[in-house]
Amino acid sequence: MIKEKYMERLLVKPGKKLSLTDFYTGWAQSDALKEAGKNAVKQRAAEILEENRVALNEAQELLWADKRYSILVILQGMDTAGKDGTIKHVMSGVNPQGCQVMSFGVPMKYELDHTFLWRFWKAMPRRGEIGIFNRSYYEDVLVPKVHPVILEGQQLPPGYGSDAFWEARYEDIRAFERHHRANGTIILKFFLNISKEEQKERLLSRLKTEKKQWKFSLSDLTERQYWSHYQAAYEEAMFQTSTDEAPWYVIPADYKWVARTLVADIIVRAISRLDLRYPETSAEQMKEIEKARIHLESE
Ligand code: AMP
Ligand code: MG
Repeated sequence: MIKEKYMERLLVKPGKKLSLTDFYTGWAQSDALKEAGKNAVKQRAAEILEENRVALNEAQELLWADKRYSILVILQGMDTAGKDGTIKHVMSGVNPQGCQVMSFGVPMKYELDHTFLWRFWKAMPRRGEIGIFNRSYYEDVLVPKVHPVILEGQQLPPGYGSDAFWEARYEDIRAFERHHRANGTIILKFFLNISKEEQKERLLSRLKTEKKQWKFSLSDLTERQYWSHYQAAYEEAMFQTSTDEAPWYVIPADYKWVARTLVADIIVRAISRLDLRYPETSAEQMKEIEKARIHLESE
Protein backbone atom coordinates (compact mmCIF):
# COMPACT_ATOMS: atom_id res chain seq x y z
CA MET A 1 0.00 0.00 0.00
CA ILE A 2 1.04 3.56 -0.64
CA LYS A 3 1.63 5.78 2.37
CA GLU A 4 -1.46 7.58 3.63
CA LYS A 5 0.27 10.96 3.49
CA TYR A 6 0.75 10.70 -0.30
CA MET A 7 -2.88 9.76 -0.74
CA GLU A 8 -3.98 12.74 1.37
CA ARG A 9 -2.44 15.06 -1.20
CA LEU A 10 -4.65 13.70 -3.94
CA LEU A 11 -7.84 14.33 -2.04
CA VAL A 12 -10.02 17.34 -2.81
CA LYS A 13 -10.78 18.62 0.68
CA PRO A 14 -14.53 19.07 1.14
CA GLY A 15 -15.66 22.67 1.16
CA LYS A 16 -12.34 24.10 -0.02
CA LYS A 17 -11.85 25.90 -3.32
CA LEU A 18 -9.15 24.27 -5.38
CA SER A 19 -6.84 25.11 -8.21
CA LEU A 20 -5.70 22.29 -10.46
CA THR A 21 -2.34 24.02 -10.80
CA ASP A 22 -1.70 22.94 -7.20
CA PHE A 23 -1.85 19.28 -8.23
CA TYR A 24 0.93 17.36 -9.94
CA THR A 25 0.47 15.61 -13.27
CA GLY A 26 3.89 13.90 -13.29
CA TRP A 27 5.42 11.06 -11.31
CA ALA A 28 7.67 12.77 -8.76
CA GLN A 29 5.42 14.15 -6.09
CA SER A 30 8.00 14.61 -3.39
CA ASP A 31 11.74 15.05 -2.94
CA ALA A 32 11.89 11.57 -1.46
CA LEU A 33 10.47 10.08 -4.65
CA LYS A 34 12.73 12.20 -6.84
CA GLU A 35 15.70 10.92 -4.93
CA ALA A 36 14.60 7.32 -5.36
CA GLY A 37 14.63 7.83 -9.13
CA LYS A 38 11.98 7.17 -11.74
CA ASN A 39 12.89 3.57 -12.58
CA ALA A 40 12.89 2.42 -8.98
CA VAL A 41 9.57 4.15 -8.34
CA LYS A 42 8.09 2.67 -11.50
CA GLN A 43 9.22 -0.80 -10.48
CA ARG A 44 7.70 -0.42 -7.01
CA ALA A 45 4.49 0.95 -8.51
CA ALA A 46 4.16 -2.14 -10.70
CA GLU A 47 4.53 -4.36 -7.61
CA ILE A 48 1.92 -2.36 -5.69
CA LEU A 49 -0.49 -2.52 -8.64
CA GLU A 50 -0.05 -6.29 -8.78
CA GLU A 51 -0.65 -6.65 -5.03
CA ASN A 52 -3.71 -4.49 -5.31
CA ARG A 53 -5.10 -6.44 -8.24
CA VAL A 54 -4.99 -9.59 -6.13
CA ALA A 55 -6.45 -7.75 -3.14
CA LEU A 56 -9.22 -6.31 -5.30
CA ASN A 57 -10.17 -9.73 -6.58
CA GLU A 58 -10.47 -11.06 -3.01
CA ALA A 59 -12.29 -7.95 -1.82
CA GLN A 60 -14.76 -8.28 -4.66
CA GLU A 61 -15.62 -11.87 -3.73
CA LEU A 62 -16.30 -10.77 -0.18
CA LEU A 63 -18.30 -7.77 -1.33
CA TRP A 64 -20.44 -10.12 -3.40
CA ALA A 65 -20.97 -12.60 -0.55
CA ASP A 66 -21.74 -9.85 1.95
CA LYS A 67 -24.30 -8.26 -0.39
CA ARG A 68 -24.87 -5.10 1.63
CA TYR A 69 -22.57 -2.68 -0.12
CA SER A 70 -21.68 -1.72 -3.65
CA ILE A 71 -18.81 0.32 -5.04
CA LEU A 72 -19.15 3.03 -7.65
CA VAL A 73 -15.95 4.20 -9.29
CA ILE A 74 -16.28 7.34 -11.38
CA LEU A 75 -13.58 8.14 -13.91
CA GLN A 76 -13.39 11.58 -15.42
CA GLY A 77 -10.69 13.40 -17.34
CA MET A 78 -9.90 15.22 -20.54
CA ASP A 79 -9.70 13.25 -23.79
CA THR A 80 -6.69 10.87 -23.76
CA ALA A 81 -6.38 11.12 -19.95
CA GLY A 82 -6.30 7.32 -19.75
CA LYS A 83 -9.76 6.33 -18.52
CA ASP A 84 -10.08 3.19 -20.66
CA GLY A 85 -6.56 1.96 -19.91
CA THR A 86 -7.04 2.49 -16.18
CA ILE A 87 -10.22 0.41 -16.20
CA LYS A 88 -8.52 -2.33 -18.18
CA HIS A 89 -5.51 -2.57 -15.89
CA VAL A 90 -7.11 -2.03 -12.51
CA MET A 91 -10.04 -4.38 -13.08
CA SER A 92 -8.18 -7.09 -14.97
CA GLY A 93 -8.14 -9.53 -12.04
CA VAL A 94 -11.74 -9.07 -11.01
CA ASN A 95 -14.46 -11.63 -11.67
CA PRO A 96 -16.57 -10.13 -14.49
CA GLN A 97 -19.72 -11.44 -12.79
CA GLY A 98 -19.45 -8.92 -10.01
CA CYS A 99 -18.29 -5.96 -12.02
CA GLN A 100 -19.93 -3.70 -14.54
CA VAL A 101 -18.38 -0.96 -16.69
CA MET A 102 -20.70 1.66 -18.12
CA SER A 103 -19.45 4.24 -20.64
CA PHE A 104 -21.42 7.39 -21.21
CA GLY A 105 -21.32 9.50 -24.34
CA VAL A 106 -23.43 12.36 -25.67
CA PRO A 107 -26.99 11.76 -24.41
CA MET A 108 -29.42 10.26 -26.91
CA LYS A 109 -32.77 11.79 -27.78
CA TYR A 110 -34.66 9.28 -25.59
CA GLU A 111 -32.35 10.06 -22.68
CA LEU A 112 -33.01 13.79 -23.05
CA ASP A 113 -36.70 13.00 -22.58
CA HIS A 114 -35.78 12.50 -18.92
CA THR A 115 -33.82 14.48 -16.33
CA PHE A 116 -30.02 14.36 -16.55
CA LEU A 117 -29.62 11.82 -13.74
CA TRP A 118 -32.05 9.29 -15.18
CA ARG A 119 -29.62 7.26 -17.27
CA PHE A 120 -27.21 7.05 -14.33
CA TRP A 121 -29.84 5.93 -11.83
CA LYS A 122 -30.53 2.92 -13.98
CA ALA A 123 -26.85 2.14 -14.32
CA MET A 124 -25.98 2.12 -10.62
CA PRO A 125 -24.27 -1.06 -9.38
CA ARG A 126 -26.40 -3.56 -7.51
CA ARG A 127 -25.53 -4.61 -3.96
CA GLY A 128 -22.38 -6.68 -4.01
CA GLU A 129 -21.16 -5.23 -7.31
CA ILE A 130 -18.40 -2.91 -8.38
CA GLY A 131 -19.68 -0.45 -10.96
CA ILE A 132 -17.44 1.74 -13.04
CA PHE A 133 -18.64 4.85 -14.78
CA ASN A 134 -16.39 5.78 -17.69
CA ARG A 135 -17.63 9.41 -17.75
CA SER A 136 -20.71 10.18 -15.74
CA TYR A 137 -23.28 12.79 -14.70
CA TYR A 138 -20.30 15.06 -14.17
CA GLU A 139 -20.27 15.57 -17.94
CA ASP A 140 -23.56 17.40 -17.42
CA VAL A 141 -21.82 20.10 -15.40
CA LEU A 142 -18.80 20.19 -17.73
CA VAL A 143 -19.63 20.01 -21.45
CA PRO A 144 -22.75 22.22 -21.41
CA LYS A 145 -21.07 24.53 -18.89
CA VAL A 146 -18.28 25.13 -21.40
CA HIS A 147 -20.72 25.20 -24.35
CA PRO A 148 -24.04 26.56 -23.01
CA VAL A 149 -25.55 26.42 -26.50
CA ILE A 150 -25.89 22.64 -26.03
CA LEU A 151 -28.59 23.26 -23.42
CA GLU A 152 -30.82 24.78 -26.09
CA GLY A 153 -31.29 21.37 -27.65
CA GLN A 154 -32.11 19.63 -24.38
CA GLN A 155 -35.83 20.40 -23.95
CA LEU A 156 -35.24 22.18 -20.65
CA PRO A 157 -37.74 24.52 -18.98
CA PRO A 158 -36.87 28.26 -18.80
CA GLY A 159 -33.97 29.32 -16.62
CA TYR A 160 -31.39 26.91 -17.98
CA GLY A 161 -27.83 28.16 -18.06
CA SER A 162 -28.27 30.60 -15.16
CA ASP A 163 -26.14 30.45 -12.01
CA ALA A 164 -29.14 29.05 -10.14
CA PHE A 165 -29.45 26.32 -12.78
CA TRP A 166 -25.86 25.13 -12.21
CA GLU A 167 -26.19 25.41 -8.44
CA ALA A 168 -29.25 23.18 -8.68
CA ARG A 169 -27.34 20.59 -10.72
CA TYR A 170 -24.53 20.46 -8.16
CA GLU A 171 -27.11 20.12 -5.42
CA ASP A 172 -28.86 17.33 -7.34
CA ILE A 173 -25.55 15.50 -7.67
CA ARG A 174 -24.76 15.90 -3.97
CA ALA A 175 -28.22 14.63 -3.05
CA PHE A 176 -27.96 11.71 -5.50
CA GLU A 177 -24.62 10.66 -4.03
CA ARG A 178 -25.78 11.20 -0.44
CA HIS A 179 -28.76 8.94 -1.08
CA HIS A 180 -26.67 6.16 -2.56
CA ARG A 181 -24.00 6.42 0.10
CA ALA A 182 -26.60 6.22 2.85
CA ASN A 183 -27.92 3.06 1.23
CA GLY A 184 -24.59 1.29 1.00
CA THR A 185 -22.88 2.51 -2.17
CA ILE A 186 -19.29 3.61 -1.66
CA ILE A 187 -18.55 6.30 -4.23
CA LEU A 188 -15.00 7.04 -5.36
CA LYS A 189 -14.39 9.77 -7.90
CA PHE A 190 -11.20 10.12 -9.87
CA PHE A 191 -10.10 12.99 -12.05
CA LEU A 192 -7.23 11.78 -14.22
CA ASN A 193 -5.12 14.90 -14.35
CA ILE A 194 -2.94 15.24 -17.45
CA SER A 195 -1.02 18.28 -18.59
CA LYS A 196 -1.89 20.04 -21.83
CA GLU A 197 1.53 19.07 -23.23
CA GLU A 198 0.95 15.40 -22.49
CA GLN A 199 -2.42 15.54 -24.20
CA LYS A 200 -0.71 16.93 -27.31
CA GLU A 201 1.72 13.98 -27.30
CA ARG A 202 -1.09 11.47 -26.88
CA LEU A 203 -3.25 13.01 -29.60
CA LEU A 204 -0.27 13.02 -31.97
CA SER A 205 0.39 9.41 -31.14
CA ARG A 206 -3.26 8.64 -31.93
CA LEU A 207 -2.82 10.28 -35.32
CA LYS A 208 0.43 8.55 -36.13
CA THR A 209 -0.23 5.04 -34.85
CA GLU A 210 -2.39 2.94 -37.13
CA LYS A 211 -3.97 0.94 -34.34
CA LYS A 212 -4.87 4.07 -32.40
CA GLN A 213 -6.32 6.11 -35.25
CA TRP A 214 -9.85 4.83 -34.65
CA LYS A 215 -9.80 6.53 -31.28
CA PHE A 216 -9.21 9.94 -32.78
CA SER A 217 -12.15 12.28 -33.09
CA LEU A 218 -11.99 15.76 -34.57
CA SER A 219 -13.92 16.98 -31.55
CA ASP A 220 -10.85 16.12 -29.43
CA LEU A 221 -9.06 19.00 -31.15
CA THR A 222 -11.98 21.39 -30.80
CA GLU A 223 -12.34 20.63 -27.11
CA ARG A 224 -8.60 21.04 -26.59
CA GLN A 225 -9.03 24.68 -27.53
CA TYR A 226 -11.28 25.03 -24.50
CA TRP A 227 -8.70 23.50 -22.16
CA SER A 228 -8.73 26.32 -19.60
CA HIS A 229 -12.55 26.45 -19.64
CA TYR A 230 -12.67 22.75 -18.88
CA GLN A 231 -10.09 23.08 -16.12
CA ALA A 232 -12.24 25.79 -14.54
CA ALA A 233 -15.41 23.72 -14.90
CA TYR A 234 -13.66 20.74 -13.28
CA GLU A 235 -12.38 22.87 -10.41
CA GLU A 236 -15.88 24.19 -9.74
CA ALA A 237 -17.50 20.75 -10.05
CA MET A 238 -15.01 19.15 -7.68
CA PHE A 239 -15.28 22.01 -5.20
CA GLN A 240 -19.06 21.68 -5.22
CA THR A 241 -19.20 17.91 -4.92
CA SER A 242 -16.20 16.62 -3.00
CA THR A 243 -17.74 15.43 0.26
CA ASP A 244 -16.70 13.08 3.05
CA GLU A 245 -19.16 10.53 1.71
CA ALA A 246 -18.08 10.84 -1.93
CA PRO A 247 -14.64 12.40 -2.21
CA TRP A 248 -12.81 13.46 -5.36
CA TYR A 249 -9.22 12.42 -5.98
CA VAL A 250 -7.03 14.29 -8.44
CA ILE A 251 -4.80 11.61 -9.91
CA PRO A 252 -1.52 12.58 -11.59
CA ALA A 253 -1.95 10.94 -14.99
CA ASP A 254 0.90 12.01 -17.28
CA TYR A 255 2.41 8.60 -16.51
CA LYS A 256 -0.06 5.79 -16.95
CA TRP A 257 1.65 3.52 -14.43
CA VAL A 258 1.30 6.22 -11.75
CA ALA A 259 -2.42 6.74 -12.38
CA ARG A 260 -3.26 3.04 -12.43
CA THR A 261 -1.36 2.26 -9.26
CA LEU A 262 -2.94 5.12 -7.34
CA VAL A 263 -6.49 4.36 -8.47
CA ALA A 264 -6.15 0.68 -7.57
CA ASP A 265 -4.72 1.56 -4.18
CA ILE A 266 -7.55 3.94 -3.32
CA ILE A 267 -10.22 1.41 -4.32
CA VAL A 268 -8.66 -1.41 -2.30
CA ARG A 269 -8.21 0.89 0.69
CA ALA A 270 -11.87 1.98 0.57
CA ILE A 271 -13.18 -1.59 0.40
CA SER A 272 -10.92 -2.74 3.21
CA ARG A 273 -12.48 -0.13 5.51
CA LEU A 274 -15.88 -1.84 5.24
CA ASP A 275 -16.93 -4.45 7.78
CA LEU A 276 -17.44 -7.07 5.10
CA ARG A 277 -18.09 -10.67 6.13
CA TYR A 278 -19.21 -13.93 4.64
CA PRO A 279 -22.80 -14.71 5.70
CA GLU A 280 -22.84 -16.81 8.88
CA THR A 281 -24.13 -20.34 8.81
CA SER A 282 -26.87 -20.88 11.37
CA ALA A 283 -27.06 -23.97 13.60
CA GLU A 284 -30.07 -25.05 11.54
CA GLN A 285 -28.10 -24.75 8.28
CA MET A 286 -25.17 -26.60 9.83
CA LYS A 287 -27.46 -29.54 10.56
CA GLU A 288 -28.65 -29.56 6.95
CA ILE A 289 -25.10 -29.36 5.64
CA GLU A 290 -24.13 -32.32 7.83
CA LYS A 291 -27.14 -34.30 6.59
CA ALA A 292 -26.31 -33.50 2.97
CA ARG A 293 -22.71 -34.57 3.45
CA ILE A 294 -23.71 -37.91 4.92
CA HIS A 295 -26.25 -38.43 2.17
CA LEU A 296 -23.79 -37.71 -0.63
CA GLU A 297 -21.02 -39.79 0.85
CA SER A 298 -23.30 -42.80 1.22
CA GLU A 299 -24.35 -42.72 -2.45
P1 AMP B 1 -15.60 9.04 -25.65
O1 AMP B 1 -15.43 8.95 -24.16
O2 AMP B 1 -14.32 9.28 -26.37
O3 AMP B 1 -16.36 7.88 -26.18
O4 AMP B 1 -16.48 10.34 -25.95
C1 AMP B 1 -17.71 10.54 -25.40
C2 AMP B 1 -18.11 11.98 -25.65
O5 AMP B 1 -19.40 12.21 -25.12
C3 AMP B 1 -17.18 12.98 -24.98
O6 AMP B 1 -16.83 13.98 -25.88
C4 AMP B 1 -18.03 13.51 -23.85
O7 AMP B 1 -17.69 14.81 -23.46
C5 AMP B 1 -19.41 13.43 -24.44
N1 AMP B 1 -20.44 13.46 -23.41
C6 AMP B 1 -20.65 12.55 -22.42
N2 AMP B 1 -21.68 12.91 -21.63
C7 AMP B 1 -22.13 14.09 -22.12
C8 AMP B 1 -23.16 14.98 -21.74
N3 AMP B 1 -23.94 14.73 -20.68
N4 AMP B 1 -23.34 16.10 -22.47
C9 AMP B 1 -22.57 16.34 -23.54
N5 AMP B 1 -21.57 15.55 -23.94
C10 AMP B 1 -21.35 14.44 -23.25
MG1 MG C 1 -12.82 10.25 -27.23
